[in-house]
Amino acid sequence: MSNSGGNVDTVMLEKRLFPPPAEFAAKAKIGSLEEYQKLYELAAVDPVAFWDGLAKTELHWFEPYTKTLEWNPPFAKWFVGGKTNASYNCLDRHLDGPRRNKAAIIWEGEPGDQRTLTYQQLHREVCKFANVLKARGLAAGDVVSIYMPMTPELVIAMLACARIGAVHSVIFAGFSAEAIAERNNDAQARMVITSDGLWRRGKLLPLKEAVDQALAKSPTVESVIVLRRVGNDVNMQAGRDYWWQEQMDEASADCPATPLDSEHSLYILYTSGSTGKPKGIRHTTAGYNLFVKKTFEWVFDYRDEDIFWCTADCGWVTGHSYVVYGPLSAGATVLMYEGALNFPAEDRTWDIIERYGVNVLYTAPTAIRACIKWGDAHVEKHDLSSLRLLGTVGEGINPEAWMWYHRVVGKERCPIVDTWWQTETGGIMMSPLPGAIPTKPGSCTKPLPGILPQVVDERGNEVDRHHGGWLTITHPWPGMLRGIWGDDERYAKTYWSRIPGKYLAGDNARLDDDGYFWIMGRIDDVINVSGHRLSTIEVESALVSHPNVAEAAAVGRPDDLKGQAIAVFVTLKNAEPDEALKQELKLHVRKEIGALAQPDDIHFTNALPKTRSGKIMRRLLRDVACGKESTGDTSTLEDYTVLARLRAEEE
Ligand code: ATP
Ligand code: MG
Repeated sequence: MSNSGGNVDTVMLEKRLFPPPAEFAAKAKIGSLEEYQKLYELAAVDPVAFWDGLAKTELHWFEPYTKTLEWNPPFAKWFVGGKTNASYNCLDRHLDGPRRNKAAIIWEGEPGDQRTLTYQQLHREVCKFANVLKARGLAAGDVVSIYMPMTPELVIAMLACARIGAVHSVIFAGFSAEAIAERNNDAQARMVITSDGLWRRGKLLPLKEAVDQALAKSPTVESVIVLRRVGNDVNMQAGRDYWWQEQMDEASADCPATPLDSEHSLYILYTSGSTGKPKGIRHTTAGYNLFVKKTFEWVFDYRDEDIFWCTADCGWVTGHSYVVYGPLSAGATVLMYEGALNFPAEDRTWDIIERYGVNVLYTAPTAIRACIKWGDAHVEKHDLSSLRLLGTVGEGINPEAWMWYHRVVGKERCPIVDTWWQTETGGIMMSPLPGAIPTKPGSCTKPLPGILPQVVDERGNEVDRHHGGWLTITHPWPGMLRGIWGDDERYAKTYWSRIPGKYLAGDNARLDDDGYFWIMGRIDDVINVSGHRLSTIEVESALVSHPNVAEAAAVGRPDDLKGQAIAVFVTLKNAEPDEALKQELKLHVRKEIGALAQPDDIHFTNALPKTRSGKIMRRLLRDVACGKESTGDTSTLEDYTVLARLRAEEE
């Protein structure tokens, strides 16, 4: 084994270990490490046979498949020749038994309005809307852009597309007209489904207006369906625009699901673009459906009586996989919330959990760090005793933020599942199984059954434990992306060319003595100080462990002596920015993880540039640290003023 090339050095030492609480493990479906290991090994010996065994029973088949996997690297086909339907698996399958009248979606709007849809009711709405789509001339293979608030109709629209084989492309309802047009054109969308507007922190965002602007530049779009959500005036173009409610009034509730090929495209989703121009990730029907169902059941130790709340918007993959397709195909009750987590006050999250008795909360580190900044009092004034399990996704969680989540939210009683995955992977790849795998703050622990990760150097050789390297997946899995929409070449180049035969995730990782995985940030973000390659997350975690630091981002900037110097951007809590604190933070990092990782520049700031899904955009900070203009794509930036303010602070 070799340690050269793509290696990253590690300086972090995290020793805390939290075994699954005995009471939790006793009730869990997979309740011991041995059980997990047995399942994992069984799957690893023959992943194809493993997934074959699951697919037969976990999905409904209109026609059975003839081949489990056809692998012509880098192109995979799973369950070849079979016919199924994701909408059928999410709805119809539950209608014959006790889940028929179980809540599928419990929804709360930002203004406080509430709705509950049982599986039977959701099925009816989806069938009706599928008929609306058909009446507008849509058929299997047509692309539909969905630009909507987090209302039940967003889920209905997705499942109605899936029902007839139309390919949905959900565009987060915060994106600009420009971004909608770009996505419409790239995917050749024939229809847009939207609403008049949406509520965001009590303010009205006119969605239809943005769609109108986008349509001036989207020649392929023939019709628009508009949901009335907020009641603002909108322009309706005759012959092109139709009201959702009026169309539904006329639609029949009879719409059998179309049997679709296993490899039929289910959706396109443009990635959030933390690193560059958005790409249309393509997922297909059977493999994706199986993967999100099983990963949902394993990771969240799914129980029929649970209320599961994933705070992600359906504009992101997390919303696709763990608000819609995973939980609904498992027959779960999903809580769905429309608005901002700090509206009307910073305790909205905890208030919702208390009022509905939420059992499982799945959210992002950025939300957790915001809650830490807002203060414990907001959490403490609510009864959170219904919670039994907590999860995170989207970025690495700094160990001290993990500890806060564990202590203040979970009352040291709820396991935390730190789930590593990507838009491209379709579902969770690495995560603790909460009843089986002891957790370590900051580690996503172990791969799920059927997933074979490997950390390698630039030549594709496995690196030694404790050394960081490139994270790869060595065997295809059912939920993997099947391509980039319309761009096979970019697909092959981005994910499969640097290490032939292995999927290159684009993240660095390392393994520790217990075989636990630690994600070390993106390959492109590594900081090279005097030949030592440092991980952003380790420097950031050291900073976040200081009592006055709420959030931190580390980047490299050119340095004549060391190659690169470390520049960090820090937002504070309970402290004023001054020189003394800068010195203190530098020494703090030095003490925590060593002299090598001591930051050279510290920039205090009120906010960090983030994607609309809440991820820190380090590449923009790199430009600021170097005093350069940003040349890359900034369309996914959540708040442009943050970047402008950062630059002003530099002057
Ligand atoms: P783009 O690929 O367009 O730059 P993106 O990578 O931010 O956008 P996503 O697919 O939503 O889009 O995010 C996946 C990435 O998020 C991972 O590659 C990883 O960098 C990070 N990530 C997700 N979950 C975790 C986790 N649990 N721990 C550490 N990092 C994580
Ligand atoms: Mg990515």
